[in-house]
Amino acid sequence: QLVRGEQQRRKMHNRIQELRGNIRVFVRTRPFLPGDGDSDTTKSAVDVSADATSLSVYDKTGKADNNFQFDKAFAPSMGQEQVFEEVSEFVQSALDGFHVCLFSYGQTGSGKTHTMQGSGNGAMRGIIPRAVEQILEQADLLQKYRMTASFLEIYNEDLRDLLVNMKPDGSASTQKGQPANAPKLGIKRDSDGKSFVENLNAITIDTTDASLGLQQLEAVMDSAARTRSVACTNMNAQSSRSHSVFMLHLHGYNDETGTTISGALNLCDLAGSERLDRSGAGADAKRLKETQAINKSLSCLGDVFNGLASKASHVPYRNSKLTYLLQDCLSGDGKSLMFVNLSPTMESAHESLCSLRFAQRVSQVELGKPTKHVQYNKR
Ligand code: ADP
Ligand code: MG
Repeated sequence: QLVRGEQQRRKMHNRIQELRGNIRVFVRTRPFLPGDGDSDTTKSAVDVSADATSLSVYDKTGKADNNFQFDKAFAPSMGQEQVFEEVSEFVQSALDGFHVCLFSYGQTGSGKTHTMQGSGNGAMRGIIPRAVEQILEQADLLQKYRMTASFLEIYNEDLRDLLVNMKPDGSASTQKGQPANAPKLGIKRDSDGKSFVENLNAITIDTTDASLGLQQLEAVMDSAARTRSVACTNMNAQSSRSHSVFMLHLHGYNDETGTTISGALNLCDLAGSERLDRSGAGADAKRLKETQAINKSLSCLGDVFNGLASKASHVPYRNSKLTYLLQDCLSGDGKSLMFVNLSPTMESAHESLCSLRFAQRVSQVELGKPTKHVQYNKR
């Protein structure tokens, strides 16, 4: 009975999703934090409407830029659990065979990693652990599922496997950093035209035992953090200059109906969107190269959304690794959700406006129907 009710609810959600198009934009403003230093913490630059769908941004003179409308606008008081409640339907649809992609976009320090990954084992957990947990909680449905996790980083348009130090069964070596002999990763197309990353490690997560599955996820996150940490002395500086993509692949089989399902959930923590100094004044060669790579891939993401919005005959997916990798989710075939993260400080007001204008373009995109990847096998 429960299962049937759940199935009804999901069918309903998918119908609504199809009717409304398949790109959602959520804006999340973080609270003031001790690290905001000299900022006047009584004056937020961002004001979220009571109905949680629109917001205004103020500058220091008190002038407002009003009327940004989105699918959802989270006020700073909204915690991780409340945010996840709005996301859980997307997670669910990956289980139903959709290709789903969530992004977090915004300037460094605005709460992208907090939203995607969060911290600790408690209330501060972000979307990644909650999504895995939600999937594992449906153990009865999952007996016939196989789930794998991959985690990669795109830095200077190069792909790096963050799980390169793990064995496919999930056991970790204590090695840190990228081994010198790490295989080169490339984006390829399979015979169905779906993109995949060649040589990328995929760790099987046990779907029959939720607590074991969550332990495996913890090992995955630890190993990724260790692999990432060696490359840099300052973790946040490093992570703000690369995109990270956490990928779950779900393959299911239903004996009764003879159907196979293949869903995917990609959770992308994007590089900081702040205006970076293009002139290179004061920047060394390494910094300049990073800057160009970030500008290129974020503007390419915008170009792809624009191309989709204007129904262009050619959408430039191949112009960046990020869009090429996520082509299946970004095209009319998949579902996307963009989180725009904002800092409440007046000092950030200009960057917040830039982020919101980017988000506005994205939210105007209307795509065709998303596709469920289900095969009906002859028996
Ligand atoms: P980004 O990834 O965008 O650079 P982070 O997610 O690292 O930013 O956030 C910067 C700091 O702010 C971190 O210490 C994070 O824990 C904190 N933070 C961000 N969003 C929130 C929030 N909604 N509530 C509490 N703390 C937050
Ligand atoms: Mg971050």
